[in-house]
Amino acid sequence: MRVVMKFGGTGVDSCQNLINVSELVTNYKRDNGYEIVVVVSAVRGVTDSLLNLTDSINKHENVSIQDFLVNLRRIHIKIIEDCIHSKKLHDLAEEKITDILGELKEVLGGIVILRDVTPKSLDYLLSFGERLSASLVSFALQDKGESTECLTGKEVGIVTDSNFGTAKPLMDTTRLRVRHRIERLLETKKIPVITGFIGSDQNDNVTTLGRGGSDYTATIIAASINADETWLWTDVDGLMTADPKIANDAQVLKEISFSEAMEMALFGAKYMHPRALEPVIEIGIPVRIRNTMNPSNLGTMISQNPSDRSKKIVKSVSAIRQTGLIDVGGTAMANAPGTAAKIFDVLAKKDINIIMISQSPSESSISMVLRKNDIEKAVSILELSLLGRVIRKVEVNSNVSVIAVVGSGMRGIQGVAARVFSAVARENVNVIMIAQGSSQLNLAFVVSDNDCETAVRALHREFDLGKPEPDCDA
Ligand code: ADP
Ligand code: ASP
Ligand code: MG
Repeated sequence: MRVVMKFGGTGVDSCQNLINVSELVTNYKRDNGYEIVVVVSAVRGVTDSLLNLTDSINKHENVSIQDFLVNLRRIHIKIIEDCIHSKKLHDLAEEKITDILGELKEVLGGIVILRDVTPKSLDYLLSFGERLSASLVSFALQDKGESTECLTGKEVGIVTDSNFGTAKPLMDTTRLRVRHRIERLLETKKIPVITGFIGSDQNDNVTTLGRGGSDYTATIIAASINADETWLWTDVDGLMTADPKIANDAQVLKEISFSEAMEMALFGAKYMHPRALEPVIEIGIPVRIRNTMNPSNLGTMISQNPSDRSKKIVKSVSAIRQTGLIDVGGTAMANAPGTAAKIFDVLAKKDINIIMISQSPSESSISMVLRKNDIEKAVSILELSLLGRVIRKVEVNSNVSVIAVVGSGMRGIQGVAARVFSAVARENVNVIMIAQGSSQLNLAFVVSDNDCETAVRALHREFDLGKPEPDCDA
């Protein structure tokens, strides 16, 4: 059995967790004879801290690169402290961390002088999180007696377009290169340990695949080497009926179809990359989501044809947070063909992704939901390009959440929307905007972020999602 195993940021954020991860991998390799490819996310919090740092640099705030690097070093050195027992390997691991941080120091130095973080330099910067964590995992596995090879996404052959921050793999080239690189390592019984989240464009610039991109790396690799399964190891028992941090009675979905899981990912479930399942759907490579702290649980199996266990209309409630709403309006927008196209065009030219759109029947306003970090850029470009001509006003609510109920059982069933909106109304939650995809696999709406958790819990209750599913043979 050939399995790509991806470990999330919480799986590698402490010495104990790193030992746990290396034991899981070696057990599956030795006891079950699995061929394993490991994909690793940055240590929990590291990508965010790199992003916060660049934010401060962009805002011309005073930042101490020295303090930042010392802290990053402390975090990683502490993880290997009691985990790597061989003195030689421990020293080599420390040396590697020092080397990577030395390179990071140079990059940060350049950025600070220019006081400008371009999308290209940001991707290079963000790649350091995964480079550090993958090295830790690689040395921890060597400490257990395994032979490993640690590779960046670029080194393993993940070639992407040049959309920095949300790069997409060029699958034909990627498949050839990755297969070639990994097959050789597996033949010699080595464990490839690969940085998640990172690729490189055709000009050899480092690119990143977007937040949560390590899940995507795992499926890109699985599709390239014809793996039997992809396992996404994380800190919860699987894909659940809601974020367990919001609904404490959330249940694990034991089996779920690719299309439902894709829909859930699009709406923020498990913060999975929205495209993460794309590479494996066509070939039908199943994806499991499992808990590193509870490996006896088989987690969630995502596949083409799950056995039809659940008769529930709605399978899960998800939320995308950190989003904002932009309303553009003006009487000149009514009956003016091409207005919407102009608005979306100026945003697209700045690589701004729109999560949700709705237009009022009077055609005099269009509302759009965007990621919070795109709001400032979007408002500025809309004002510069269209205000006073195509549009008369641009209004912003920068603190909203998109809530979605997802489930294939909703198709053709009447009354789901009524139940959804009655349930949130009973909790006095105001619905700001509504959208239903034509697939009828989801119903999504926008609320103020302060109401997000109340709305998720109300819907979780309304559709009985906190009740365990009966076993299929019960
Ligand atoms: P990883 O680093 O393993 O990728 P993430 O933090 O990205 O982990 O994602 C796991 C987290 O996703 C869980 O801790 C959980 O709080 C959150 N989450 C949100 N929605 C769901 C859901 N429907 N099912 C499972 N987890 C969810
Ligand atoms: N480290 C990246 C992020 O935080 C990728 C990942 O964790 O999947 O988004
Ligand atoms: Mg993640």
